[in-house]
Amino acid sequence: MKILVAVKRVAALEEDFEIRDDGRDVDPDFLNWDLNEWDDYSLECAVQIKEAAGEGAVEVVAVTIGPDDADEVLRKCLAKGADRALRVWDDALEGSDPIAIARVLAAVAQKEAPDLLLAGTQSSDHAHASTGIALAALLDWPHAAVVAALDFKPGSASALVQRELEGGLLQSIGVQTPAVLTIQLGINTPRYASLRGIKQAAARPIETATPQELGLAESALGESGSLSRVRRMYVPEKGRAEMIEGSAAEQAARLIQIIREATGA
Ligand code: AMP
Repeated sequence: MKILVAVKRVAALEEDFEIRDDGRDVDPDFLNWDLNEWDDYSLECAVQIKEAAGEGAVEVVAVTIGPDDADEVLRKCLAKGADRALRVWDDALEGSDPIAIARVLAAVAQKEAPDLLLAGTQSSDHAHASTGIALAALLDWPHAAVVAALDFKPGSASALVQRELEGGLLQSIGVQTPAVLTIQLGINTPRYASLRGIKQAAARPIETATPQELGLAESALGESGSLSRVRRMYVPEKGRAEMIEGSAAEQAARLIQIIREATGA
């Protein structure tokens, strides 16, 4: 039995940052990178299912779509208990939106044929909250989003999940497998990688593939394979606020002055 966990290397902004010259993203010099927090929880779900099933019964495969630097998040997954790590990249994937990323992940899922495919509910940097759901649609697999509890026994034809809804409500549903689940923060307590795990992970191989090797056409990749495109990224202008003080008459007079200035009346 196999669990595929989609993990993303996400960017966090430094306190002071600048927008790239093309105005469409943050200058990478001002970014710090790490494993997406939501993906840490979904990896933990997979590793817990594996540990409960006993030696050799479940294989956990971490997959990321990203350039060489993304290896560091895969090593973190290996250190925490993933059995294999796969990175898919080609420069043609630059500028991919969640649909184009989901298309690549779907091709990986078709090749790996997992029983469960776990993704994060959202990524902390771009917050699309759509890659997992797009992936389920492309594969035509059942899915459950914002999963706050998961009960899955390897070999079972379905998983029991609790979904987090608005207003503190939970919804309990059964989902047939293979299925895509998007995992919510707080579903478990992600482990820290042990020193031994980190050392061993450093020496483990990371499998690589290109989208072309997965059978994807050039037109399906990057901006040409995307349904949305970032036009501009910017820091919005801050609004102004003024406390009006004094007696009621003074406040009214100041208010009239502000309205006159704003309307030119
Ligand atoms: P998003 O739709 O960008 O908010 O991301 C939701 C989830 O999709 C993430 O938590 C990951 O599980 C998965 N995902 C997004 N981008 C990637 C990527 N480049 N590689 C692997 N998984 C990804």
